[in-house]
Amino acid sequence: MHARVPALFVSHGAPTTALQTEGEFARALRAFAARMPRPRAIAIVSAHWESRDPRVTGSAAPLLIYDFGGFAPELYQVRYPCPGSPDLARRIAELVPGTVIDPRRGLDHGAWTPLRLMYPDAEVPVVQVALAGDPRALGRALAPLRDEGVLLIGSGGAVHNLRRIDLSAETAPVQAWASEFDDWLAKSIESLDVDLSRAPGARLAAPTLEHFEPLLVVLASAQPGERATPVFEGFQYGTLSMRSFAIQ
Ligand code: ZN
Repeated sequence: MHARVPALFVSHGAPTTALQTEGEFARALRAFAARMPRPRAIAIVSAHWESRDPRVTGSAAPLLIYDFGGFAPELYQVRYPCPGSPDLARRIAELVPGTVIDPRRGLDHGAWTPLRLMYPDAEVPVVQVALAGDPRALGRALAPLRDEGVLLIGSGGAVHNLRRIDLSAETAPVQAWASEFDDWLAKSIESLDVDLSRAPGARLAAPTLEHFEPLLVVLASAQPGERATPVFEGFQYGTLSMRSFAIQ
């Protein structure tokens, strides 16, 4: 038997976040990891893998996908040689009927960015799960994994609008609409009830849903009596919220 493992939502920010291994965000993720037992494996849902049908990575040694363009060469040299877990992939296929196990698909930067910062030794086996169908239904289906020693992570962006980022500086002043939405989100997360249709500025903060849906996956895995705990809050480039939280 395993004690229940928390579920974690992380905002992964700009791809360059993966290089900031000693930044505040990385330190917050590592501090969180240090406070909980080491998971047997990780199941991670990222904004950057959307699929019509449920899919998981089945490789025993998943490669990295560099799914971005125009960044410094060192970002394309990042390695994260974690094992995969064909066993966990098969278990997920039991929990989510119709799941296709993809032996070739690797981990995208929405997955490897937080993993590299949180578990730099890359020793915990990782399976990536595609965003497919209703994110809340996916979260409920995956929730039993948390009682099997598996850390469930959703990786997206609490406020994510690439047309509105302020590229002048990573520490650019936070825009009012972004911080208003982020405040609303913090309160909604606390009550485990996030209804975008009631959010101020939702069309600016989540103009497309793929970066928001991993958050709904994680919330839907909450069990009776669990609470949300902040793991990190802050912004990059004036509008990208890095808000991250755990359910435990
Ligand atoms: Zn992203």
